[in-house]
Amino acid sequence: MKSVCILGATGSIGQSTLDVLARHPDRYRLFAVTANTQVDKMAQICRQFRPRIAVMSDQDSADRLRQQLQDLPDITLMAGSEALTEVASASEVDVVMAAIVGAVGLMPTLAAVRAGKRVLLANKETLVMAGHLFMQEVEKHRAELLPIDSEHNAIFQCLPADLQPGLQHNGVTRILLTGSGGPFRTTPLDQFDQITPEQAIAHPNWDMGPKISVDSATMMNKGLELIEACWLFDVDEQDVEIVLHPQSIIHSMVAYNDGSVLAQMGNPDMRTPIANALGWPERIDSGVEPLDLVKVSQLSFEQADERRFPCLRLARQSIIDGGTSMAILNAANEVAVEAFLQGQIRYTQIAELIEQTMQHVPSRNTDSLQQIIDDDLSARAYVKQQISSV
Ligand code: NAD
Ligand code: MG
Repeated sequence: MKSVCILGATGSIGQSTLDVLARHPDRYRLFAVTANTQVDKMAQICRQFRPRIAVMSDQDSADRLRQQLQDLPDITLMAGSEALTEVASASEVDVVMAAIVGAVGLMPTLAAVRAGKRVLLANKETLVMAGHLFMQEVEKHRAELLPIDSEHNAIFQCLPADLQPGLQHNGVTRILLTGSGGPFRTTPLDQFDQITPEQAIAHPNWDMGPKISVDSATMMNKGLELIEACWLFDVDEQDVEIVLHPQSIIHSMVAYNDGSVLAQMGNPDMRTPIANALGWPERIDSGVEPLDLVKVSQLSFEQADERRFPCLRLARQSIIDGGTSMAILNAANEVAVEAFLQGQIRYTQIAELIEQTMQHVPSRNTDSLQQIIDDDLSARAYVKQQISSV
């Protein structure tokens, strides 16, 4: 019996994780769940799964949750960011699902790593912000890091099980990172200024939270995933080729020196990578529909156009610049996406604001968490100031 903590249980990944856990009551029990402020959803989760601890972001939400769960006094309710760190590193926990969205996921995910847990990493922002430090800590504390992002989970599955350090020593020549191209892959460029948040979050293949859906539309998601791949698999950005694949059936590929290219396929449903990482090295049932290739009928591939998707160029640039540039890119993106979702800026301003921020906020070469967070905050302040001045 493995004991599981889900950070971000009320979100899209959190819900998919609960769905997989519910299929295996003999293997997993839920120790702790966390959420921001979604009290009703959290109450439902607590009723169904009876975790030992539920954490909300603020005391008011925790109090409201207590009201709803008066008949379940055995569930301990906690609030605040320290409680997140506490449950993520609790001695009772074996597996931590890191599914909080954004930079706030960094500290609790790092806490899970430092406690040597099996960490299922959905929160890509953690690696984007502090990849070097994070991977060092994984090594140092012998944590077991398993990628949940479907592309990285696919790459992980296409690599040899007895992986030797350095992908080239395994005969790997290239990683092919696939992306659907999102809802605006064929939209005429002169219409980009009119794109609304509703259009941007309507992803053709995946059902995801609002922030990552906008990131998929701008392809900043693929840019963040490029950074994520470089840290996870210890490769350079030139070793990763981004390929558009509108059907989202192949989730990424690995090319070998004998000419073989291995791909991992499946229906676009996050329960596959979640089940893969939960059960690894065993395979467990995920509830995902079997793939019907005849029904899919066609798999197509295109080059990603950086004029259409300037965020791809910016993400590559941040890797080349190194240091805290990636944290600055990520922070600027988070603020710009939020402002776009709130109707404060136009769609095309997301990339413009990120580029301006990268030009104006100096980056540093550092593994100091405080300096990374400081640069993240400077980038946020800069974008907010730019937005309020227009
Ligand atoms: P979501 O918006 O649906 O859910 C986010 C979760 O984080 C919620 O439980 C929310 O309560 C919690 N949260 C938000 N702000 C918080 C805060 N300030 N403090 C504490 N908790 C907070 O997001 P999602 O789509 O599930 O994505 C989660 C993470 O997984 C993201 O980093 C995303 O990039 C990554 N990811 C998601 C998908 C997907 O299919 N949804 C795929 C790959 C990677
Ligand atoms: Mg992905």
